[in-house]
Amino acid sequence: MSNVAIASCRSYDRTEVEKAVAKCLHELGGIGNFISAGERVLVKPNLLAADPPEKGTDTHPEVVRAVLLEVLQIGANPIVGDSPGFGSLSRVAEKAGIAQVCRELGVPLAGFNEDVEVKTCPEGKVLKSFPLVKEITEVDAIINVSRVKTHGLTRLTGAVKNLFGCVAGLHKGEMHFRLQRADVFQGMLIDLALTLKPTLTIVDGVTAMEGAGPRNGSLRHLGLILAGENPFSVDAVIARLVGLHFQEVPLLALAVQRGITGIRDSEIEIRGEELENFIIQDFKVPTSSTRIDLKVPEWVIRLFRRYVSPYPVIHDNCKRCLVCLQACPAKVITLSAGKVRIKDEECIRCYCCQELCPHDAIELKVPLLGRLFLKSSSIL
Ligand code: SF4
Ligand code: SF4
Repeated sequence: MSNVAIASCRSYDRTEVEKAVAKCLHELGGIGNFISAGERVLVKPNLLAADPPEKGTDTHPEVVRAVLLEVLQIGANPIVGDSPGFGSLSRVAEKAGIAQVCRELGVPLAGFNEDVEVKTCPEGKVLKSFPLVKEITEVDAIINVSRVKTHGLTRLTGAVKNLFGCVAGLHKGEMHFRLQRADVFQGMLIDLALTLKPTLTIVDGVTAMEGAGPRNGSLRHLGLILAGENPFSVDAVIARLVGLHFQEVPLLALAVQRGITGIRDSEIEIRGEELENFIIQDFKVPTSSTRIDLKVPEWVIRLFRRYVSPYPVIHDNCKRCLVCLQACPAKVITLSAGKVRIKDEECIRCYCCQELCPHDAIELKVPLLGRLFLKSSSIL
């Protein structure tokens, strides 16, 4: 049985967040169950892009602060780090309010600018090794501190997807390009979580992001903090919170197929608050671009991807900032005649552009064939 703790947290009031994080840890046996005095601990928030805390893009600084206080209180030595989707760690952490928290608590921000090749764990299926930030090999433990958000490619981003930020800088784009099939990409994310084995995951679910996440969605109050040892269990609980069965989250469906336990309801013990009190049935989740149980040849995927997978469309509110052009791993976004355009026939449907557009100018549209297909397979 895998334990996931839930604590009510109605706002980002400092005292309330500290109490909620402490309550979750208490339900799991205390922080001492996970780390010890003197250990070097990487606290890994979600630092996707340089946005202020109120936008909901990154893990809220008060949640990071509360986790750091727990780590410091036990006498461990934390560092804070992530490899943002766009921009330098220092700039993103500054804007997100996390650099200020680090300064106040005397905790260093990691460099995250050197990478090392780390062998995938024996259960890995997709890659033999990962280009990870060097700090991963220098710490004794990783505490994964993510946020509940929607995501164009994975539907939800919580515990497992947050670990993709341990892949060094530009290698993230290379992975999107190498692993163009959504199911293969999600298999890689599973391998990464199994390889990194975070000691603990703590999730900011005070205000979640629904709709066009992970950067341009709408804020939705969930009012809780979650924590657990198994990141797959934490994600399974997040799925239930937003009204989804684990089979409707491709990464979790694939993980169950691969024999990973702690995902089915019967394998999870919820501690602390009653889960049912926090479930939101009308949470807006993007349509899935993947059917994990669909075994089709590669050529069929390549041929039909354009006709069934959501495709990015640039709207008139585009400010021509060119963030998408720099973020696109397939290099299919161009600026011509003063307009930003996407060469649709070469787009690999990775959605990095939509993920990182700072002006909510990119929408993911589901083609008619895709709508019919997904509806018939009841995965919408
Ligand atoms: S679509 Fe978004 S990211 Fe791309 S240039 Fe326009 S505003 Fe910038
Ligand atoms: S246009 Fe967007 S979805 Fe298509 S390959 Fe580039 S970043 Fe990915």
